[in-house]
Amino acid sequence: MENKLRKVIIIGSGPAGYTAAIYLGRAGYKPLVIAGALTPGGQLMNTTEVENYPGFPEGILGPDLMESMQKQAEKFGAEVLLNDVTSVDFKSAVKLVTTDDGITYGSDAVIVSTGSQVRKLGVPGELEYSGRGVSYCATCDGFFFRGKPITVVGGGDSAFEEALFLTRFGSSVTLIHRRNEFRASKIMVDRAKENEKIKFITNSVVDEVHGNDVEATSLTVRNVITGETQEVESAGLFVAIGHTPATKFLNGQLKLNEDGTIVVDGATTRTSVEGVFAAGDVVDNMYRQAISAAGMGCRAALDAQTYLNEKYS
Ligand code: NAP
Repeated sequence: MENKLRKVIIIGSGPAGYTAAIYLGRAGYKPLVIAGALTPGGQLMNTTEVENYPGFPEGILGPDLMESMQKQAEKFGAEVLLNDVTSVDFKSAVKLVTTDDGITYGSDAVIVSTGSQVRKLGVPGELEYSGRGVSYCATCDGFFFRGKPITVVGGGDSAFEEALFLTRFGSSVTLIHRRNEFRASKIMVDRAKENEKIKFITNSVVDEVHGNDVEATSLTVRNVITGETQEVESAGLFVAIGHTPATKFLNGQLKLNEDGTIVVDGATTRTSVEGVFAAGDVVDNMYRQAISAAGMGCRAALDAQTYLNEKYS
């Protein structure tokens, strides 16, 4: 165990974590940010141009935005550690956080802002053609498939939103869903059904992504009821089957919602454990925007400050 008690530890380094660090740093708390070993900076590190983050009329590259947030947090005294958290112990007043190098850090308050990961299909060819015919972000990659056949997998609002957006680019957009009913809102389904460019293959799953040395070209799609398979032309497959909040390391110590997000108390960022706060995509399965995560990071910092002030007054 590290021989020093921290006031606040922030786990995760996306817009929520760094915004919390900026606020707590400016308030004099010298937060420790455990930023992650593999993906410090979060999902924006895999994004190219970000055009909807306020303050950048010309847009900004995702990695540049995250580097600036880190610098801004460090400028105000945040200490950034490039390690993964492997376990936590929130049972006593001093919260314990252990990293992959075996060091345990103690703290009065903790903010969890570990984000979420896109769900993958886990089928042959998916990984191989990722970035050259398989994508998880229509707004990022739709443009590359202008005039080509596009497929989308999923039956939720994301899949429908992506399918509708992709009709601007694709010669056709085929939505493949494993059931005959959709989870998406009726208005999105109606809109898609009215769009001539969108075709549906239901009760079906993708079994494999095929392609040549350069790019993906088609999919094997299997009907889960009849077992029949068909080859579907696909230059761009967009997987939109949801996100998994990154909470494994919590080992059940915070209450979670059915969708895996952390339960918070109303409009606050207070979790089921006193002194532990949560912000960003690990809480929010709805908006999932950099700016909404940053806003929640600000709220978590203010909630943590109130908690620490009350504790020490
Ligand atoms: P979601 O609602 O959880 O839907 C995920 C979809 O993927 C479901 O249809 C699910 O099928 C399917 N799926 C899951 N795992 C699969 C697998 N391994 N293989 C094939 N299909 C799989 O996720 P989401 O669409 O990302 O939406 C998340 C939240 O954001 C929702 O609350 C949604 O309303 C919200 N959202 C709102 C908007 C909007 O209002 N404009 C836009 C986007 C997202 P089953 O249905 O069979 O389970």
